[in-house]
Amino acid sequence: MAAVVILLGPPGAGKGTQARMLEEDFGLIQLSTGDLLRAAVAAGTEAGKKAKAVMEAGQLVSDDIVLAILRDRMAQPDVSKGIILDGFPRTAGQAAALDTLLAETGQKITAAISLEVDDEAMVGRVSGRYTCACGEGYHDEFKQPATAGVCDKCGGTTFKRRADDNAETVRERLKAYHAQTAPLIAYYDGKAVLERIDAMGRIADIRAGLGRIIAGVSA
Ligand code: AMP
Repeated sequence: MAAVVILLGPPGAGKGTQARMLEEDFGLIQLSTGDLLRAAVAAGTEAGKKAKAVMEAGQLVSDDIVLAILRDRMAQPDVSKGIILDGFPRTAGQAAALDTLLAETGQKITAAISLEVDDEAMVGRVSGRYTCACGEGYHDEFKQPATAGVCDKCGGTTFKRRADDNAETVRERLKAYHAQTAPLIAYYDGKAVLERIDAMGRIADIRAGLGRIIAGVSA
């Protein structure tokens, strides 16, 4: 059966960075509801129009909008390779909806991995980050391209910063995480699929640790 891996953790924990690496390492498909919502905002869809202000305030978009977007994505054929959920589920309602969706398609959760970090460090991590158009992530302080202004991965020169990656909004996002998402750690522990990893170390070490967890539970 194809793997279904959930990455849990506050903004800045490294979910997106690690999900992209796990795509490479395991051939899984990254499903980021944040990316899907940002694409909806950019495309000006009805869902995107409703989500825009909520996202800019660092609050959670309503479950019905997020679930509709996720269902559409999960109906695409490539997800049969297995998925890494990055930023979903974020509420108890979304977790229950995911259980139903997986049961309907005869799938189950392989692992829900909590990326454990210090909140205080997250404001600095998120505030300085930016991304190449190809998806490669950088940071003003921690990870600049080898040649200034040129992406190490694709050679591109177009970078962007997220509207919600500023210190004030990150604090709101951390609050939303603790109030609505952190309780899911206990939920998945209760289902005996929870794994924890220290995510304060080097990106490569965390990647290796996640790899060991996924290889272990998929065996
Ligand atoms: P992310 O890219 O995961 O940091 O998400 C960016 C923003 O998109 C969040 O702060 C929320 O406003 C919204 N968002 C992303 N995923 C979800 C979700 N599963 N439920 C509700 N809101 C979400």
